[in-house]
Amino acid sequence: MKKQKCPRCNKGNAITHNIYGILPCESCQAEDEKNHLQTQPEFYSISKHNRVTEQRDKHAKDILQPFEKRGEASPDFAKAYPTKVDDYYTKDQLKKL
Ligand SMILES: [Zn+2]
Repeated sequence: MKKQKCPRCNKGNAITHNIYGILPCESCQAEDEKNHLQTQPEFYSISKHNRVTEQRDKHAKDILQPFEKRGEASPDFAKAYPTKVDDYYTKDQLKKL
């Protein structure tokens, strides 16, 4: 297999991952790790309750589908993503919302 250059620094060898595809080289990943560790304390300063609520809200939006089972526009989706409705729905579908 052909060696890919790291997309980040263009010096090291990129790491090819079965699932994620091309990943930055080991030194770039080590750099990420360091930054990640440095930002951790901020995460912990957010109260646990807020974090859980935030995750739940995010998740609820993630599972919204633009169309319902019978192929009709989903009002919940339209509410959650008002900027996307024009991309997903025809004018007729918008009328029915
Ligand atoms: Zn790199």
